[in-house]
Amino acid sequence: MRQTMLGHALTRLEQAARHLEIDGEVIEKLKYPRETVKARLMIRMDDGSRKSFMAWRCRYDDTRGPTKGGIRFHPSASMDETETLAFWMTFKCAVMNLPFGGGKGAVKVDPRTLSKAELERLSRAYVQAFAQTIGPDRDIPAPDVYTNAMVMGWMADEYASIIGRSAPSVITGKPIALGGSLGRDDATARGGFYLVRHLEKELGLGEGARVAIQGFGNAGAHIARLLDSAGYSIVAVSDTRGAIHAPGGIDVAALIEAKRRGAVRDLAGKGDVRALDDDALIGIDCDLFVPAALEDMIHAGNAEALRARVVLELANGPVTPEADAILGEKGVVVLPDILANAGGVTVSWFEWVQNRQGMSWPLTEIHARLKASMEAEGAAIWRVAQERGVSMRGAAYMHALLRLAEAIEAHGTQQFFMS
Ligand code: NAD
Repeated sequence: MRQTMLGHALTRLEQAARHLEIDGEVIEKLKYPRETVKARLMIRMDDGSRKSFMAWRCRYDDTRGPTKGGIRFHPSASMDETETLAFWMTFKCAVMNLPFGGGKGAVKVDPRTLSKAELERLSRAYVQAFAQTIGPDRDIPAPDVYTNAMVMGWMADEYASIIGRSAPSVITGKPIALGGSLGRDDATARGGFYLVRHLEKELGLGEGARVAIQGFGNAGAHIARLLDSAGYSIVAVSDTRGAIHAPGGIDVAALIEAKRRGAVRDLAGKGDVRALDDDALIGIDCDLFVPAALEDMIHAGNAEALRARVVLELANGPVTPEADAILGEKGVVVLPDILANAGGVTVSWFEWVQNRQGMSWPLTEIHARLKASMEAEGAAIWRVAQERGVSMRGAAYMHALLRLAEAIEAHGTQQFFMS
């Protein structure tokens, strides 16, 4: 059995290919990243010393357009993880029919140990190292775990100073003042929210459904707010510092305030909210479980304990292939990451289009376009799952693979190579 994370991810490609008549060359092409660039970033720390950090940028596949994918700052970042995330982006962009291939970047760093000035120097160093790799028509970064609009703003600024002109469409997820799109902040959660609402009847969800959320950052906090506003009840939440549970529902405004001041666990003891062991979150009695933290959180060792009937994967890769099989046996419907969290990259695409048009679309238009895309692709994938008797993940991979195969075949044998 393959041990790498990318190896795990490729099992999904192989499973999808078994259900389709796909040329073997297509699968061969999608089994390896097109290009992964590695750099050591050296920055000056506030105390005058110099420190170095490993960094990567992967352009996994650009058959359907320039590669697109976030930049992660995390102490456990690695090349394998970066390539895996870029592989997922390739499929995610194809699932949503965006004119992009898949890419990803990372720096191995704990950004919480850096001052704001050090973080800015590191962000600018990343762009200096990869200025030849990224570009508005080549590879377009965005935020990911522990990077945000402020970091994207510094990066766009650095890129502009390197090439000597403004090029806002090189990066998405920028501050609004620098060409960011309205609606990008909650787009990932909102996309997942539109998907759940559209498939509510099929999934047996609706007002009063009980929700547990793992991770309370951008994706987790926004999905709590959106589901709460639709009458769902948020009964359990966790972040890196702990988990809480209230069977009667948690006040989401108080939860967001607790997180703003510290951690979700700070709400324990208020009303009927009690602290929970991190490991116990997965076994909480609820209808919908939302992983919104990191990869591999639901694995062979804990999947059996999951009590929810539906999983909305806002995180990338939160369920291992072994856990997927266990959840399938239990009849749990998993709305897979490459569909469920695709709202973020979809609004990033809107941002890229607006930057190229020199226009700014109103929020109502962003929401309407995102809703239409999530509903159309979600319904199509639901249909494939029903007709072919496969999981939603299997159906999403099949849906994307057909689009990728069509593009790879349309390119012919001599695919245009951008050096
Ligand atoms: P974030 O940094 O804003 O939040 C991550 C949250 O997870 C934090 O609250 C952190 O405390 C929590 N966390 C980390 N480890 C945890 C653990 N072991 N147990 C419980 N909580 C833990 O990141 P984000 O942008 O919300 O991203 C979360 C996930 O969603 C990632 O997998 C990311 O790749 C994915 N995602 C994000 C976007 C986006 O637009 N932000 C888009 C697509 C996918």
